[in-house]
Amino acid sequence: MKKIGLFIEFKDDEIKPANDGMVTMAQGDGHELFALVVNADAAACRERLSAYGVSAVVDITAGGGAWHPDGWADAVVQAMNACGIETLMGLTSPQGRDLLPRIAAVLDAPLVMDCVGVDLDRNVARTTQYSGKAMAEIQLTGRHHIYGIRAGAVSPAPRAAAAEVHAFSAVEPTASGIEVLSTRPGEAGTVDLAEADIIIAGGRGMKSGENFKLLQDCARAMGAAVGASRVAVDEGWVPYTFQVGQTGSKVNPKVYIACGISGSVQHFAGMKSSEMIIAVNKDPGAAIIGKCDYYIVGDLFEIIPEVTRALGAAG
Ligand SMILES: Cc1cc2nc3c(=O)[nH]c(=O)nc-3n(C[C@H](O)[C@H](O)[C@H](O)COP(=O)(O)OP(=O)(O)OC[C@H]3O[C@@H](n4cnc5c(N)ncnc54)[C@H](O)[C@@H]3O)c2cc1C
Repeated sequence: MKKIGLFIEFKDDEIKPANDGMVTMAQGDGHELFALVVNADAAACRERLSAYGVSAVVDITAGGGAWHPDGWADAVVQAMNACGIETLMGLTSPQGRDLLPRIAAVLDAPLVMDCVGVDLDRNVARTTQYSGKAMAEIQLTGRHHIYGIRAGAVSPAPRAAAAEVHAFSAVEPTASGIEVLSTRPGEAGTVDLAEADIIIAGGRGMKSGENFKLLQDCARAMGAAVGASRVAVDEGWVPYTFQVGQTGSKVNPKVYIACGISGSVQHFAGMKSSEMIIAVNKDPGAAIIGKCDYYIVGDLFEIIPEVTRALGAAG
């Protein structure tokens, strides 16, 4: 039996739902699950984590306040060492992409991001390769192993345990090359891309950053998150955190609505596991039309406001 550390992420002071799937992935074969909670109310999430099989919540107090990538990485490593944890799982989220490689560097450990499965007994990670065309099984060696888990890769399955909360105060690291000047959280109440059941995404067809407001209004009306193609990000219309695809987020929503997106292989690499894909495109010959479940051929600037109006009327 191994001790498995699980780095728990929060949004608006609540545990992100994507943690539940990650904890579920760690449940197999009776390993001892330690939730690592940094500078958050660990006692308040004890019950939720217990419901998914966590047996210990490590309440880590770290320097750096709300977020400091170096300080937090160091604090997590200290807590892992104190608890005898050699395997760590976290989410392949914007925060996970910043934190997990730093932890791997401190521990000189192998790291596999974007895992869709892990075999914790054999230290093997499963992840997609070549824009999703192949599945790789990657053997991790050495003493410590770090896995970044794709949100939504596993459906949460409760397994009751009785977690105890253990306080841990990390010693502040002496030096960091990073000074966090300010932290600007995303708009409260919005849905995270990686965790959304519905995503409405825009590409070059959106024509400007201001026009993404059309998607944001529609997303609000249907409880969706907003995504984007790389073109929209490269043009500076939306931040990188919106990007879906080979070099962006890999998402698994129930419904993915692609507006003004042609359907390149690189974009599909990030969203092809969506349960249903809907395309809005004025070109009936666009690649996405042949690869989606439903499509509307037409001008998104007419169609999207109409959908928002209809949803508003229905709500
Ligand atoms: C190594 C590498 C990695 C990459 N990684 C990614 C990645 O992670 N994600 C990603 O998305 N791309 C990625 N790309 C880029 C990718 O190859 C494409 O260039 C990109 O996906 C195209 O974006 P798009 O569909 O928005 O633009 P386009 O291909 O230009 O398509 C725009 C579409 O909008 C439609 N349109 C225009 N106006 C309207 C309108 N008014 N109403 C309705 N439809 C309209 C057009 O008919 C067209 O189909 C990568 C490329 C490389 C080489």
